[in-house]
Amino acid sequence: MHSETDLYRQMSALDAEHFNTCFYCGCIATEYDLVPGIKHAEFYLRTREEADFYKVPACRECFYFLKDDNSALLGQRVDVAKRCLARKYKKAIRIYEVWNIDEIDELDYQLKHSVNAGMILGKESCQRVAFTGFDYEADGVKHSTHFVKNEVFVIFGEKFDNFRDALEHGHKAYRIPKAKLIELFTEHNHCFDTAINSFHEKLTRKILDKNLKRQCTAFALKHKQNLKFVMRTIELYCTQDQRLTYDMALDKLYLEIIRD
Ligand SMILES: [Zn+2]
Repeated sequence: MHSETDLYRQMSALDAEHFNTCFYCGCIATEYDLVPGIKHAEFYLRTREEADFYKVPACRECFYFLKDDNSALLGQRVDVAKRCLARKYKKAIRIYEVWNIDEIDELDYQLKHSVNAGMILGKESCQRVAFTGFDYEADGVKHSTHFVKNEVFVIFGEKFDNFRDALEHGHKAYRIPKAKLIELFTEHNHCFDTAINSFHEKLTRKILDKNLKRQCTAFALKHKQNLKFVMRTIELYCTQDQRLTYDMALDKLYLEIIRD
């Protein structure tokens, strides 16, 4: 059996500002995360599969997230910790992304209180998820590999370095409720452009459908026709010839079928 000190290289931050900082989330470190965990160490030694063998400063929460994880590379463990953080604080992160200060002022006391608390926790959680680690030294070798890529969100060419700002912009500039925009963003493969386009296409479609129904109803009454028949025929005409407006299609129906 190997001892912990033989196997693992202590990771130390290069900058004083990161001493005692959790490498995974930036909180105060009170534990060490072993990469890989001690109970998986023998496996990596025996199989010679790639493993970092780092002793990483970690906060209590990240330490517990990673306790039973068997990944042996620092980058993999960063991913696991971030995933756990994002999952655990999902609700608060959502509140932080969706609400802004002036909207909260309008809420009643109880709700204001809980949304405020969510905002604070959500903001902190976002920062922890986005924390990019720090430059460190292990066994006398300096490392400045960062495993967290700063995600950039683009809305029709305009760039935002966090989801919250992008959402705010999408909401204001394209007049889409934030919750709806998040839903569409997720549905459309995390792409704001297609999410926004699909929202407006659906909206246009709804307006057109309403107009179609209104015009067809008037037509059906005037010419004593069945409404469903009129609507189906108009839709058919319009698909066959995309240049037709509803008025033109109704004229066509009148001339070709009803008049005789
Ligand atoms: Zn942490």
